[in-house]
Amino acid sequence: MCGAKQGVVAPAPTAPGVPPAPVAPGYPGGPAPMGQAYNPNVAVQPTVAPPMPQSLKCSSCGGPMKPSGGLALVVCEYCGAVTTMGAGGAAEIIQKHFMLDSRISNEQALDAGGKWLNKGVFRRKVAERSELGTVTLKYVPYWVVPTSVVADFQGTKNVGGGAGVGMMAHGDSGAKKAAGAALFALTIAAAAAGSQNRNQPVNTQPQVVRVRDPIQMQHNIPVVAVRGYSKYQPDDGFQFQLQNKLNFDKRSTGGVDVQGGDVGEPEAKAQAQALAHKFIEKEAKKRVDTLESIQVYPTTYDGELLHAPVWFMEYAHKGKAMFILIDGHSGQVMDGERPTFALW
Ligand SMILES: [Zn+2]
Repeated sequence: MCGAKQGVVAPAPTAPGVPPAPVAPGYPGGPAPMGQAYNPNVAVQPTVAPPMPQSLKCSSCGGPMKPSGGLALVVCEYCGAVTTMGAGGAAEIIQKHFMLDSRISNEQALDAGGKWLNKGVFRRKVAERSELGTVTLKYVPYWVVPTSVVADFQGTKNVGGGAGVGMMAHGDSGAKKAAGAALFALTIAAAAAGSQNRNQPVNTQPQVVRVRDPIQMQHNIPVVAVRGYSKYQPDDGFQFQLQNKLNFDKRSTGGVDVQGGDVGEPEAKAQAQALAHKFIEKEAKKRVDTLESIQVYPTTYDGELLHAPVWFMEYAHKGKAMFILIDGHSGQVMDGERPTFALW
């Protein structure tokens, strides 16, 4: 057995999908792409360069375009127009391109984040006990996909016998709604028990009630149009204030960085369907104790591209890195991570 094979040279590690570092054309000695560990056991794939137009010009202002993250959405750095590759492979400007204006200051963003952190009886002073990290404001592209979803579900709910009393200590709106639903179910159960057993003592044994219900929801679901920006994806039903949207105009961004994208509309629609499924399943689970089955029928309609001002706040709580996402237009928290509870 001979160790060294002649003529086999370890290939330079290549990372398709990683945006190329800014290197002047024709200058091959640029920095090597980072982000992928070299694994000698992986079969060597010939790397095929994606078909890149030799000279892509913005058809809105004529400026040269430098696609970095792929050709699905290329933002012109001069005028902000977004070019996409149409079905026939031709470059076309996205016409349904909107924005929201940035309305809150850095201070207001921090304030909103702090309030969100401290919300709830178990979370007082979390903000004070957290260390603030980097805070950034960017215009981030989202596909806003109008989605309607219908679901048929079946399940059971435990009522009677004081079920649920003392269990609703969370104090947020979800728990309040659940408490309301439980009360409603109890009333129905009591009425049913009353009509069946007029001369019997009130039945206080726990009972199981069947719940079978269609639910319908309409959402303008925002899907972040940048791969790798998963933390910018609200997944709890957040919606932008679309009634305030403006036609995109780079002059109205106030010099804030406008992020390009790489997620096309068909992919965004598929993601919107998946999110709709998740939202409606969550809604169904609020109405039962045991969800036995659910059928979900989502429909998506043509979306539009929205550049929204988004504050991204990094912070650390007891050494754990977390983040908060704030809509720079409304000042609302879009999503984030916070400690489950913190004793003060
Ligand atoms: Zn342009």
